[in-house]
Amino acid sequence: MTGAWQTAAVAGWLVAVVAIVALAALRRRWAAELERFRAVSERDALCGVYNKGALVSLVSDLFGRRGARLRGTLLLVDIDRFKDVNDEFGHAEGDEILRAVGEALRGGFRAGDIVGRFGGDEFMVFAEGLVDPATIGEKVAALREAAREAGLAHVGRPVTCSVGALVIDGRAATYDAALRQADAALYEAKRSGRDRHVTHSFEEPVCPAAGERRAGAGGGRSDV
Ligand code: GH3
Ligand code: MG
Repeated sequence: MTGAWQTAAVAGWLVAVVAIVALAALRRRWAAELERFRAVSERDALCGVYNKGALVSLVSDLFGRRGARLRGTLLLVDIDRFKDVNDEFGHAEGDEILRAVGEALRGGFRAGDIVGRFGGDEFMVFAEGLVDPATIGEKVAALREAAREAGLAHVGRPVTCSVGALVIDGRAATYDAALRQADAALYEAKRSGRDRHVTHSFEEPVCPAAGERRAGAGGGRSDV
């Protein structure tokens, strides 16, 4: 009788151990699936960079966390006359150009920099620690060259970009005010002829409410 009880007890323990191991493996798989799902849900399906929701959330959180210690550059990149590219060559070719610009942005900045698609043909980057004008100029030049080459490869003519860069160096910048000022730099690049890069330095707004034009909305610039 004692032997039968002992066998039953051992069998019970074995079942319990197998169940615990199986449950732990299942939990790990669920966690991995959840992580995969989260990563996919944050990405722009066409360009592979962050989608707008993830982008705005990551950049605004970073601004909130760093406060007056924030140093870095906020870039807005917008393809010039992209509507004409679509109209002339079709959306499939337009998509290839968007994909190439996304790839150039991903490859052109450090792994920890935040790169995302802000609107149809507009991208945003926040590169923490990047404040040196020469380095900013080199990175933007490489990006613009990649867009030109993508245009030549896909539609037989160079595609150009306008870029607004805002350098923040230890100022108490809010995301909304920084977005407005980066947008103003981009607007200046568009208005002064496109195919160029304009850099501004962050200035603390006299009236903070004035810095909230595109708060959370984004992509609201009218054509110039
Ligand atoms: P500007 O130089 O002022 O930026 O002119 P634009 O024509 O680029 O500006 P606009 O904002 O009027 O046009 C952006 C175009 O981007 C309009 C739309 O057809 C195109 N677009 C937006 N999303 C996509 C997309 O996912 N794929 C493709 N192929 N085109 C897109
Ligand atoms: Mg455009």
